[in-house]
Amino acid sequence: MKTIGQLSEALRLREVSSVELVQDALARIAVAQPRFNAFITVDADAALAAARDADAARARGEAGALTGIPIAHKDVLMTAGMRTTCGSRMLAEFVAPYDAHVVTRLRDAGTVLVGKTNMDEFAMGSSNESSYFGPARNPWNPAHIPGGSSGGSAAAIAAALVPGTTGTDTGGSIRQPAAMCGITGIKPTYGLCSRYGLVAFASSLDTPGVFARDALGCALLLDAMAGHDARDSTSLDRPPEDRSRALRESATAKPLAGLRIGLPREYFGDGVDAAVAGAIDTALGALRALGATTVDIGLPAVKHSVPVYYVIAPAEASSNLSRFDGVRYGHRAGHYTDLADMYCRSRAEGFGAEVKRRILVGTYVLSHGYYDAYYLKAQQVRRLIAQDFARAYRDCDVIVGPTAPTAAFPIGAKTDDPVQMYLNDIFTIAANLTGSPALSIPCGCTADGLPIGLQIQGNHFEEARILNVAHRFQQATDWHLRTPPGVESAVRKGGP
Ligand code: GLN
Repeated sequence: MKTIGQLSEALRLREVSSVELVQDALARIAVAQPRFNAFITVDADAALAAARDADAARARGEAGALTGIPIAHKDVLMTAGMRTTCGSRMLAEFVAPYDAHVVTRLRDAGTVLVGKTNMDEFAMGSSNESSYFGPARNPWNPAHIPGGSSGGSAAAIAAALVPGTTGTDTGGSIRQPAAMCGITGIKPTYGLCSRYGLVAFASSLDTPGVFARDALGCALLLDAMAGHDARDSTSLDRPPEDRSRALRESATAKPLAGLRIGLPREYFGDGVDAAVAGAIDTALGALRALGATTVDIGLPAVKHSVPVYYVIAPAEASSNLSRFDGVRYGHRAGHYTDLADMYCRSRAEGFGAEVKRRILVGTYVLSHGYYDAYYLKAQQVRRLIAQDFARAYRDCDVIVGPTAPTAAFPIGAKTDDPVQMYLNDIFTIAANLTGSPALSIPCGCTADGLPIGLQIQGNHFEEARILNVAHRFQQATDWHLRTPPGVESAVRKGGP
């Protein structure tokens, strides 16, 4: 499976056309869909038309690095004319009248949209099992989860269906599935990519980001996607950055010389699977060999991130999801007695169990008499967590540890125990609470052949730095180039 960088070069040299790449992607998706269920919607005609446009733009000399690259969007991002379901019955037939800002930006950069990827309902989950359209499956072992909530976006790359996808990360939904599927995924700084046209889950945490095989691919997509948008009041107005340029500079013998890696005690304790701990240890050895030094740090308040998140995220969700009332958007019950009954039935039928659980929790923690005890307290602890990170970044440049405590678990293993499911995000949530960037790269695999992810976190706006650390690691290792058994044989000559 070629990377975005390699495909971009092949397109530039006219070794392949965008139409050929898209035809190949469509053929692979047709074969893979029954096995992995990575997509909710595929629009072959629109994709081929966009690919022809991309090839024509190239012929006119108007091509950029991403012109003609097939991609897919998580089905939480609005795409004009292509349905946006959010993995929910509520929006199963919803067609947005406009594009999300990040969708427009990637379209303007010349990427070709092939379809929309499977996800947990309203991005609530860590396993893709809450999707109304059935779970996506892990290409490394289809009996296992691909991670979530952006499970389809991660599975689509691991299965070599497309070289790049978008995701959103509210508590880990890019990094955790990237880890489970053995690919690279980055959640940028909150505010770097606009939330306009992203179906809101928890607005103070929701962050659009990207997946690719490698850090360079992520950098190319992120550069195209980031940028100010006046329609999102939290969108940041910053000068554009070329995050892929530093990655393209040739490596010295010690490309990470001078880099101080912080190792939080809290990320290396009990509860981390032995195979995961071993792979992280080996990866740290590789990073030291590239010139980095490691320093032990403490993030004492981080142990509260899961409870803090599961107050704040449901609180915001309960408010955001009130718009789905059977009138303005989506599903409306077929039979009802009066207006209140119509609201109740539409929401009862349209939402699945996990979404209802979050709405109930969120409504509870915001209600009179409980607000101070839960919501206000959670916001205060959120600040303490942010202070821990600010303090840590005086002693180190990046923070490294496992992305998740275990590799992908079997489908069904945690569906009856929401708390176990929530604990899967123990290492990813803090970056959402603080708004800082973080990524996951593959760094090993279990005895059963399931991928293990390494998380690299940075201070606000340090995307270029964490991408560079990931890139130098990937130049020295080949975990990111490995493909699941059977996937290689599906690769057609000349394809991605
Ligand atoms: N797994 C977390 C949750 O269920 C995070 C989801 C996300 O990042 N969208 O809320």
